Amino acid sequence: MVTPENSKETDIETSIIKVDIAIVGAGPAGLAAAREVSATGATAAVLDSYARPGGQYFKQTPQTFRAKRPGRLHHDYAPAQALFGVAEASPRLTLRTNTTVWTAYGSDNGFSLHCYRPGESSLEVRAKKVILAPGAYDRALPFPGWDLPGVMTAGAIQTLAKSQRVLPGRRIVLSGSGPFLLPVAALLAESGANLAGVFEATRPVVMLRYGSAAWNGRAKLGEGAGYLRVLRRYGVPYRFGRAVVRAEGAGRVERVSVTRLNPDWTIMPGSLETLEADTVGVGYGFTPSTDLSQLFGCEHRYEPTQDASFALHDARQQSTKPGVFVAGEICGIGGSAVALPQGAIAGLAAALDLDPSLSSKSEANSRLARFQAEARQAQAFAGTLNRMFALRPGWQSWATPETIICRCEEVTLGKIQTAINEFDLKNVKAVKLTTRCGMGLCQGRVCGQAVSSFTASLTGRDPAETGSFSNRPIVRPVPLGELVQ
Ligand SMILES: Cc1cc2nc3c(=O)[nH]c(=O)nc-3n(C[C@H](O)[C@H](O)[C@H](O)COP(=O)(O)OP(=O)(O)OC[C@H]3O[C@@H](n4cnc5c(N)ncnc54)[C@H](O)[C@@H]3O)c2cc1C
Repeated sequence: MVTPENSKETDIETSIIKVDIAIVGAGPAGLAAAREVSATGATAAVLDSYARPGGQYFKQTPQTFRAKRPGRLHHDYAPAQALFGVAEASPRLTLRTNTTVWTAYGSDNGFSLHCYRPGESSLEVRAKKVILAPGAYDRALPFPGWDLPGVMTAGAIQTLAKSQRVLPGRRIVLSGSGPFLLPVAALLAESGANLAGVFEATRPVVMLRYGSAAWNGRAKLGEGAGYLRVLRRYGVPYRFGRAVVRAEGAGRVERVSVTRLNPDWTIMPGSLETLEADTVGVGYGFTPSTDLSQLFGCEHRYEPTQDASFALHDARQQSTKPGVFVAGEICGIGGSAVALPQGAIAGLAAALDLDPSLSSKSEANSRLARFQAEARQAQAFAGTLNRMFALRPGWQSWATPETIICRCEEVTLGKIQTAINEFDLKNVKAVKLTTRCGMGLCQGRVCGQAVSSFTASLTGRDPAETGSFSNRPIVRPVPLGELVQ
């Protein structure tokens, strides 16, 4: 219930917002959390770096486009509109877009989140509980030439084509692993792109192994089959067990080498073929955005099938840090089908914790149980997909000693190998300090997972042991002026 103490209070002068619950991320997880918080009568601030709410799955075109039929480019348009409506219209919710949380901390008095807003005063959000729903970013694997202009992530291509209505090149190749390649390929084909081929690294025999488990998610399988039909209609070749392992050209991509892969993803000798292309989209799944959960001191677990670490949580989505809830991709890559119920659980649980005497508590508890069952079912299917499309270690053999791994600081694989051998380095933090990889503008978001994997294999240690880049108190780049406000 809203009381004078916990009602929404906005102080424009000092740019401080005081709410019951701060929600980071306005993707499916964050928006579902906001809907539930609002329904219980508590107040929340929803913060997102992007200009419009929606995150990745419900991504919107810019408002200035005034699309006549915006639903045509949208996943699940009606449910997305319902969530946008609640976030924008509820008097208990404050939605702030173009707002990046760059640092945060907790104390006995609650939590404080500091936000950067380009062109506006800085903002501090004070809350009693925090829900982290920051999603993920897409993952590229390094190969010779991956740093040439024209090579980009499949997600970047999707964003250009879907929300900006721009085709990234004249002749495009997609390469990677996992179901995400399909919607990107279908979107490009339907947008009139010249798509020279889509190369899925996973072999069909691996997919068949998981066939019966995958049947549980037949609605999603049907969606995948629909994308394949689009590719067939436009005559786009879709090949399994293959990958782009080299890109070449004078100053930008002109051609790529595509190879057949062995079961462990090493290159099958004698199978290289050359394709002309000026754009390559690379997508090997997603990496969770765990910078804020690490900053709060939440515990994470390493998940081998996704070669990444995720925030641990209980059945109510509470992390190991009391008062910090987590939902969506930060808990495990599962797509919107998992993110939506997890966000709803986090929103309800955080609000229930704030007001245990909530008049509709029994109804809230039964909603909680329903969302928990929904999340468990969606997670089972997501787990099957994650195992099916798990990265195989042979991808590390695609890079040569000259291949740049950290693009910001231009650190090659050879330099990493030499540093590990010369100084007997044992973990990723030592590799970072010795070579500078991960110290550039992206703070290891592009190279971090690759450096972790190479460090583990070059030191012969377990990735859980060699760890990942250490977290910084400033999780996103901000202008210096922001720090003195
Ligand atoms: C590029 C890309 C494209 C994708 N496309 C598809 C697709 O076509 N189909 C599909 O099924 N799945 C897609 N996914 C998978 C997608 O992650 C999930 O389907 C779903 O969007 C996850 O929901 P979420 O709420 O957990 O995260 P997201 O939808 O990613 O939302 C997270 C939000 O948090 C915000 N955020 C993160 N950190 C901060 C911060 N520090 N301060 C402020 N805001 C912050 C982000 O701006 C983002 O809007 C895509 C993922 C990516 C990375």
